[in-house]
Amino acid sequence: MDDDTNGQSDGEQFRIETRSIHAGQKADPETGALMTPIHANSTYEQDEPGEHRGYEYSRTGNPTRTDLEANLASLEGADYGRAFASGMASINTVLNLLEAGDHVVTGTDVYGGTHRIFTQVYEEYDIEFSFVDMTDLDEIEASFRDDTELLWLETPTNPLMSIVDIEGAAEIAHAHDALCAVDNTFATPYLQRPLALGADIVSHSLTKYLGGHSDVVGGALLTDDEELDERLGFYQNSVGATPGPFDSFLVLRGTKTLPVRMDRHCENARAIATWLDDHPAVDRVYYPGLESHPGHDIAAEQMDDFGGMLSFELDASLEEASAVVSNTEVFTLAESLGGVESLIEQPAPMTHAAIPREERLAAGLSDSLIRVSVGIEHVDDLIGDLEHAFETALSS
Ligand SMILES: *Cc1c(COP(=O)(O)O)cnc(C)c1O
Repeated sequence: MDDDTNGQSDGEQFRIETRSIHAGQKADPETGALMTPIHANSTYEQDEPGEHRGYEYSRTGNPTRTDLEANLASLEGADYGRAFASGMASINTVLNLLEAGDHVVTGTDVYGGTHRIFTQVYEEYDIEFSFVDMTDLDEIEASFRDDTELLWLETPTNPLMSIVDIEGAAEIAHAHDALCAVDNTFATPYLQRPLALGADIVSHSLTKYLGGHSDVVGGALLTDDEELDERLGFYQNSVGATPGPFDSFLVLRGTKTLPVRMDRHCENARAIATWLDDHPAVDRVYYPGLESHPGHDIAAEQMDDFGGMLSFELDASLEEASAVVSNTEVFTLAESLGGVESLIEQPAPMTHAAIPREERLAAGLSDSLIRVSVGIEHVDDLIGDLEHAFETALSS
């Protein structure tokens, strides 16, 4: 680092591997302590009534959170960042921008919690949602109305890893004077930067790759638009779903290793996808890094690599697939994703159990579909673990 930047490197001149470690952080001027302190603190001394040194009350602002927000903004190449208590709190804050009577276009396969807040919370407030196949730009275009104010998308999607053309989708939104928000949780800013592709807002569940160690829940919103950031900040402070200093510290610790972790996640996922693709017990593999994946070309264009998430269908029954996910030793049977440890789950009886079977099958989620969050263990141990589970569970 340059002496005159004092270890601080929010600037675009540094690469993401450098910014992930340094952006938003500098040694404490009094003690020289390198790490951002956990400012366990709710209120701040004022010099005179109304005259404070940047902080009044920790819901409104906390120095540990400030460093995290600056770090996340730098990773996304954004001018402004806001941290939240969860990914759902950040999604809720985007929806706070809407008014009764507004219409939102979004994907059929958005994250389950996103689908729930759309249909079970905001539809009650007279906001309407259209769920469309976001891989089809014509379908997105056709679903816009005069009252459409927001296009909400995810890419890659869960669990089929469908790819949405961010640039094309954002263009449609802007032609209709609507905002385009992208949930970038699966890709992370290391692999995909939606603001540079035209999106207005990026949303994250920090619980996943950015935290990276399955030990914290958090969310974030990033934007380049000052006015939009001020409105988001108003709702952040008014609603109050802000992260505490301990959680902010944990995420800040996690982002330091994001680039090295993501490199290994991608490398391992690519090897496992290739192995599964050649395996006789496997009918189909959903991984955007495979050339057979329908979104491969767009993914190759808008992502720097293909990520650590993949799904596959076994030539087997729901029960046999359940036996596979129950017989792994290195992969843990669990929901969630993005930690250093590998997780395995079966959408039909787990994450997507709330969807009636016919609807689920129509959406392409078969009984034997298995989703894995590929961790950063040794890839041979991961492949060996899957092979052993196949042998145990699929004896036929
Ligand atoms: C987990 C997740 C969320 C919700 O985040 P929480 O931190 O669990 O509130 C939103 N979007 C995606 C894509 C997710 O994976």
